[in-house]
Amino acid sequence: MKKIKMTTPLVEMDGDEMTRVLWRLIKDELILPFVELKTEYYDLGLLNRNETRDQVTIDAAVATQKYGVAVKCATITPNRQRMEEYPQLTEMWNSPNGTIRALLDGTVFRAPILIDAIKPAVKNWKKPITIARHAYGDVYRGIDFKTDEPGETTMTFRGLSGKKQRFSVQKTDGPAIWQGAHNKEASIRSFARACFQYAVATRQDLWFSTKDTIAKVYDGFFKTIFEEVFQEYKDKFAALGLEYFYTLIDDAIARVIRSEGGYIWACKNYDGDVMSDMVSTAFGSLAMMTSVLASPDGKFEYEAAHGTVTRHYYKYMKGEETSTNPVATIFAWSGGLRKRGELDALDDLIKFADALEQACLDCLNAGIMTKDLASLVEPGIQARGVSSRDFLAEIRARLELSLNCCHAISSALAMRL
Ligand code: NAP
Ligand code: MG
Repeated sequence: MKKIKMTTPLVEMDGDEMTRVLWRLIKDELILPFVELKTEYYDLGLLNRNETRDQVTIDAAVATQKYGVAVKCATITPNRQRMEEYPQLTEMWNSPNGTIRALLDGTVFRAPILIDAIKPAVKNWKKPITIARHAYGDVYRGIDFKTDEPGETTMTFRGLSGKKQRFSVQKTDGPAIWQGAHNKEASIRSFARACFQYAVATRQDLWFSTKDTIAKVYDGFFKTIFEEVFQEYKDKFAALGLEYFYTLIDDAIARVIRSEGGYIWACKNYDGDVMSDMVSTAFGSLAMMTSVLASPDGKFEYEAAHGTVTRHYYKYMKGEETSTNPVATIFAWSGGLRKRGELDALDDLIKFADALEQACLDCLNAGIMTKDLASLVEPGIQARGVSSRDFLAEIRARLELSLNCCHAISSALAMRL
């Protein structure tokens, strides 16, 4: 069988620890035998970020802006403990995801991969719920403080023009705690645009929720901006039969729990932080969550939602075989290749991405899975927990079969023509 050709490179960002090991295996077993892979490679492994003084992360983000599609392996965000583990580090480098997100002005969309053998904790959920979390501002860029006597807190805004606006927050009759938060119009607009853009790209309805009955100006501004940006997408939504739906966060939660899934739920920063953990846990496993960073101008970076799976890596380094789940990382690759295929009109590449995902699902539905999943299957379903290496071999066998079948069918059809 001839390998599938690509025309534009995919930006490839390598990473750290166990996911770096899986990255290599996935490429060798599941991609390179079938695709004439064209990537622009950036090594975002911690040591190379250190060596390049993190320039490699910036270069990778710039390349994503240029080519439009990237696929990223999980990376270590160093903390104090990592500084001890890697004494050669010259700085506690920032999170690469944070750097890339800032440069692409993007929003992260997280969605679970569903399989028949593992049922969501919410029994009526049948399709994935994608959470879009606004990743700037509010309490994450706020200040909070404590006072210990009666008094008043005021807030003052001083404009560059010299204009001043002063507000009384509250007068208190005793010790109190306080919080000041902000968000920026430009950031909210980018968030809204990324959400509408992603809804169109994935053909899903978009829900958005805030608490604008209480925070009338603050959350009301989010609501207004979303409504304004929606006007730019109204016709596209109508043509695709999609719906944009705004509701109060309390009502959204009730509706989400009663729904079948199959939509994007856009959340403010805190709501997204909390709700994405709730939704992913209810769907099953962090190892089955995909994540894509989408920019308001339609650039995409695909990755797994989990980290570098350090505990498994230490076992691997001791020579032990691990059963680390590669599914979310494989779906990052298939997501990137499919998007590349769509942008470059490469039908075979799109079909390959579909076949790769289907091979993973077939394997899982046949009860062959890594150990993290084997413990979650419904009672009565036979599941076999295998090593990552064996799991990839099983996926490869199914992928080969399906690609050979497709090839044989299309050759037969061509002969008949
Ligand atoms: P983690 O790597 O997601 O792993 C946490 C635990 O979840 C693992 O120890 C494992 O549980 C389970 N797990 C996660 N992914 C799995 C998989 N694919 N297969 C099987 N089990 C899986 O999170 P962490 O330990 O908090 O963070 C490790 C490193 O990753 C940190 O240095 C952090 O900076 C980085 N990180 C990177 C990203 C990113 O690049 N996007 C995201 C998050 C964290 P058991 O050990 O019980 O088997
Ligand atoms: Mg959280």
